[in-house]
Amino acid sequence: MQLVDIGANLTHESFRHDFDTVLQRALTHGVIQMVVTGASHSGSDHALELARRHPGVLYATAGVHPHHAVDYSDLTDAHLRELAHMPEVRAVGETGLDYNRNYSPRDVQLDVFERQLQIAADVGKPLFLHQRDAHHDFLALLKRYRDKVPAAVVHCFTDTREALRDYLALDCHIGITGWICDERRGTHLREFVREIPANRLLIETDAPYLLPRTVRPQPSHRRNEPMYLKHICEEIARDRGESAEDTAANSTAAARAFFRL
Ligand SMILES: [Zn+2]
Repeated sequence: MQLVDIGANLTHESFRHDFDTVLQRALTHGVIQMVVTGASHSGSDHALELARRHPGVLYATAGVHPHHAVDYSDLTDAHLRELAHMPEVRAVGETGLDYNRNYSPRDVQLDVFERQLQIAADVGKPLFLHQRDAHHDFLALLKRYRDKVPAAVVHCFTDTREALRDYLALDCHIGITGWICDERRGTHLREFVREIPANRLLIETDAPYLLPRTVRPQPSHRRNEPMYLKHICEEIARDRGESAEDTAANSTAAARAFFRL
């Protein structure tokens, strides 16, 4: 089984002490390529640096997460534009809207999201998107740019069936994480994950966050790692009524086409 983790926050400090071991474990568990999420100005630099150090295995995105929207300046915009041109950077983002925590004011989030939509349109690279509790505003803005970008993935999708259908109608890809394994808040996803066309379903860990709650044994440190992607793949396969081999093969092909791996 060969898997691609399309969302791994490998720049996170929790990976600093054993990065090479984590990467090795991912490879031995069939995760052959990973897209390292860039979620801030410096984090995007770091993601690019990791991709350069592991050519063919790690790739990067470049963007500013809505949590950090208040930090977005003209300098950031110019810098992201530079990064977006780099061959290792395969998508613009993580960008989007997060009204769940509102770490940045909504008007600032909207402005910063639109500026990054424009970067993707100008550079002609796909979008790596984040949306929480902001479906209405997010959809309205995305609609205006969807035709201008080659592809878009709504990463870590956690919203409703109606929201899913809106994104599929916009020809978006959908990223599913171990959120689906969370019996407290992810069970609704199990009911409609089969509605995602096989060529638009991407799978991801969002490591070090979202350790799948159904992994046994649960690691004592609670840190999620790309190696657990196989577990997520198996859970999704069961909900879709298909074999894990099929889910793996299709999502890997979809990821390779999306990110040009
Ligand atoms: Zn996210």
